[in-house]
Amino acid sequence: MQAVHVRDLTKRYGERTVLDLPEWSVEEGERYVIVGPNGSGKSTLVRALAGLVSPERGTIELDGEPAHDKPPHARSIGFVFQGLALWPHLSVRGNILLGLDKQVPDAAERRTRLDELAEELRIAEFLDRRPAQLSGGERQRVALARALVRRPRLLLLDEPFSDLDARLRRTTARLVARLHERHPMTIVLITHDRTDAYLLADRIGVMRDGRIVAEGAPGALARNPGSAFAAEFLSDASLVEANAHGGEARSALGPIPLAESAEGAVLVAFRPDEISVGEGALTGTVVGCEFAGGPWHLRVAVGDTVLAARHEDRIELGAEVALALTTAPRALVQEDR
Ligand code: ADP
Ligand code: MG
Repeated sequence: MQAVHVRDLTKRYGERTVLDLPEWSVEEGERYVIVGPNGSGKSTLVRALAGLVSPERGTIELDGEPAHDKPPHARSIGFVFQGLALWPHLSVRGNILLGLDKQVPDAAERRTRLDELAEELRIAEFLDRRPAQLSGGERQRVALARALVRRPRLLLLDEPFSDLDARLRRTTARLVARLHERHPMTIVLITHDRTDAYLLADRIGVMRDGRIVAEGAPGALARNPGSAFAAEFLSDASLVEANAHGGEARSALGPIPLAESAEGAVLVAFRPDEISVGEGALTGTVVGCEFAGGPWHLRVAVGDTVLAARHEDRIELGAEVALALTTAPRALVQEDR
C-alpha cells in the first residue's frame, strides 16, 4: 500500500507557484528523503501532507484514504517541523508525554517508551529541565522523542538534524534508522545535506522549484541522476558541455566514451570518484587543492575545462598532472540545468 499519494498538487503564494506535483507517492514502510536547495518547496510539501498548508488544487491520500479534507489532528501523522515548537512551561518529560495517555493508557508502557528514547537520544539527564535550559541540538532531540514516542504510522521530519554537530547528526540519523527497523512506520525526511540523505534513504527525491525533478534509490540516483541539477546536488560532479552521438561524446576534452548512448547537445557528468590522478590520457594544471578532512579536493584545468578530482596527498598549485576516467561518464540533458 502507498502511505502517501498526491495527485495534481499545487500551492501558490501570490503569483508564485511553490508546489507543483502532478503525481508523487511514498510506499508504506519506506524511508523517503527529500533533498533540495532553500526555497524549493520542501517544507510546503510536508506541511500540506500534515494539513497545515492548504493547496489550491489536488488530492492527498494517506494510507489509501483521502486526507485533504481532514484537519491536521485527524491525520495519523507525527512531525518534527523546522522551528520546532516545544511548550516552554513544561519540562522535557512533560513535553514528550503530553497527551500520550489518551493514546497509550498503560502507564508502564509509556514509561518503557520514554526510557528507551531518552537513553537512545541521550536526553535522559535533562528530562526535568525546561526547553529554555537546553541547547538547540538538545531541543531537536527532545522534539524527535516527542514525535517518536507516539509511534505514528507516518513520520514527517523537516530538517530535524540542522542544529546538531556533524557527529551527532550521523548518530541521530542512524538512531532514526534503527528505530524504524524496530517499529514499522513510514518516514518522510527533509534535508539539504546529501550525506544525511544517503545514510537514511530507501529512496531520494530531488526537489527544485516545487517539483520533484529526480527520484530513485541512493546508489542508483548517485550513479545516474538523470538531470544536471540533480547531479550537481547529489555529488561534486563537474559538468562538461558536449555533443553526443551514439556511445561517444565530443567535448573540449576530446572524444569521451559514454556509459549509455545519447544524441545531441548534452552535459557529461564527471564524478571526482571516477577520476584517477597520476596517469592517463588527459593532462591538466592543478588550479585548486583544498584539505577536506580525508583526501585533498583538487580542481584541475584541462584547457578551459575544470574537473574536480580527489588525491591522498597535497599537490602544488600550477603542477601538471595526468588524469584518467575510471568509469565511462553519463550524458545528461542540457536544458535541465
Ligand atoms: P524549503 O523548505 O524548500 O526551503 P519552503 O517550502 O519553506 O522551502 O518555501 C518555498 C517557497 O515558498 C519559498 O520561496 C518561500 O519564500 C515561499 N513561502 C513559504 N511560505 C510562505 C508564505 N506563508 N507566504 C508566502 N511565501 C511563502
Ligand atoms: Mg524548509
